[in-house]
Amino acid sequence: MTDTKTLLEWSAKYHTPNYGARAPICLVRGDGVRVWDSDGREYLDFGSGLAVTSLGHCHPRVTGAIQEAAATLLHVSNLYHSAPQIHLAKMLTDHSFADRAFFCNSGAEANEIAIKIARKYAHDRLSSDRSEIIATNNSFHGRTYAALSATGQPKYQQGFEPLVPGFKHVPYNDLRAMGRAIDNRTAAVLVEPIQGEGGVHVPDDDYLPGLRTLCDETGALLILDEIQTGIGRTGRLWCYEHWGVEPDIMTVAKALANGVPIGAMLTREAVASVLTAGTHGTTFGGTPFVSSVALATLSTIIDEKIPERAARTGRYLMDGLRRIQTTEPVVKTIRGKGLLIGAELQGAAAKVVDACRDAGVLVLSAGEQVLRLAPPLVATEQDCDRALDVIAAALGKLPK
Ligand SMILES: *Cc1c(COP(=O)(O)O)cnc(C)c1O
Repeated sequence: MTDTKTLLEWSAKYHTPNYGARAPICLVRGDGVRVWDSDGREYLDFGSGLAVTSLGHCHPRVTGAIQEAAATLLHVSNLYHSAPQIHLAKMLTDHSFADRAFFCNSGAEANEIAIKIARKYAHDRLSSDRSEIIATNNSFHGRTYAALSATGQPKYQQGFEPLVPGFKHVPYNDLRAMGRAIDNRTAAVLVEPIQGEGGVHVPDDDYLPGLRTLCDETGALLILDEIQTGIGRTGRLWCYEHWGVEPDIMTVAKALANGVPIGAMLTREAVASVLTAGTHGTTFGGTPFVSSVALATLSTIIDEKIPERAARTGRYLMDGLRRIQTTEPVVKTIRGKGLLIGAELQGAAAKVVDACRDAGVLVLSAGEQVLRLAPPLVATEQDCDRALDVIAAALGKLPK
């Protein structure tokens, strides 16, 4: 077995340097809410990867589906039908606004097809010169070119120009700005119902309904990026349910197969109809393997009422953070819904992330100053108590 020191040296030597800020641990095993590193140290995983392993590590139903699919049929191309992909499309549409589903391999890829289908719909059904996509400042939609062009954070874009043309950005949670920007050249509005990566920003209650109205008035499509917020993370199966607003297109990825790579683009019949045979496709999207794992994940989340549980545990965790805030003024604001929670700090969040990890709890940051918590949705109140103790101690140690 290669020792940890050597592994970290090789990592620094053989990987492209884009993950240069990686934490200096090598994780080797997981079980539920816990993971272990190559030196045998145990951690409470309050990041779930990046809001991915919502049922915890090695959940028996997920592991069972993986084993069964691996021994039955791993891959067939999309030249053929396969039952797990059909069942998954049916389950997702039965449990959402959507009529149709397209499967791909990641969040960015789901946003690529969302942008493509919105443009094709505008082009085919509205007007041949209608192609603009309006997204928001501080958003995150992924790293491929169209998704990166939609992302409203220059730090991810610098040096990679030229970006894909036809994207406009307006401030998030600002209906007037969107109202001024949207017109008969707008193909679609693309937003996260809660901005995750950008700092866990929850919009005002009138924002999503207001966007729906603006889109209806102009004929633009409303695309919701639920890649981070979907599949129960915010205390509802879909985040849009909090506001009773339905999108025309929704993208999903991260937690959909509890860690096996998958993305999905869900939409209404009228929009789906522009994707005629041969207009889009992918080699790996929705293989029997990943579809079986997603089916096991999604049916567990629905059968076991995991979103309701996330809502309860989220309130408990947020109350705990509020108690910490009363003694630690370095915590400026606490935001979130369900188990997607952000605590905006006075200074850099990275120090707190490092201190928590050293004390055995993995947490995330979002932007420079926001500590982000996205534990598995199956985390218990005792797990929260342990994480809260460690976070309080880490905040207490910051220079005042
Ligand atoms: C993570 C994320 C993406 C990108 O997903 P990848 O699978 O990393 O391509 C897009 N949008 C949101 C809101 C995300 O959180």
